Amino acid sequence: MDFSSKLLENAVYEVSQLPGIGKRTALRLVLHLLKQPEQRTENLSSSLVSLRSKIQFCQNCHNISDTNMCEICANPKRDDALVCVVEDIRDVMAIENTGQFRGKYHVLGGKISPMEGIGPQNLKIGSLVEKVKKGVIKELIFALSSTMEGDTTNFYIFRQIEGLEVKTSTIARGIAVGDELEYADEVTLGRSIVNRVPFEGSLRQD
Ligand SMILES: [Zn+2]
Repeated sequence: MDFSSKLLENAVYEVSQLPGIGKRTALRLVLHLLKQPEQRTENLSSSLVSLRSKIQFCQNCHNISDTNMCEICANPKRDDALVCVVEDIRDVMAIENTGQFRGKYHVLGGKISPMEGIGPQNLKIGSLVEKVKKGVIKELIFALSSTMEGDTTNFYIFRQIEGLEVKTSTIARGIAVGDELEYADEVTLGRSIVNRVPFEGSLRQD
């Protein structure tokens, strides 16, 4: 792509670094911004800058938050003894939308994936095991998507806490194998949390 303007080229390059955005789409978006009032671009850039500089991670569940304790963890009406293990904030949002879960979350920040070079040490697994050891958690619900990476992660955590005083369950699979949680409809996802099954039982496969 030949640009008549270095400023335009730089902006297009930065936008094209976003996932799923090619050079052509980036150019279209940048030209769109140029046609909009200047304030629009200022709002966009300042919201991104303050997102990056001010965002925090909840010290208890590692969810993205504006404060060092997220609203869910800070809510005394939520059950400390029931913890749902999820990959990231999108899963928390999907489960919250069902209105079926009154416990708390533990956000791992990803799934074990040797292909992508993500090992257990790259995820928030140690702090989960520590929380279980403290004895406050009575039940852990594994709610990772049922992909190979999700199953591997569930099993790894299960082995770390095996023998400790905690019940483990996994969300009922109304959700087809390979589906990501955030795409499951609210009714299906809500039901799969209510009808969760013991984790050990879910390991047996015919
Ligand atoms: Zn939290």
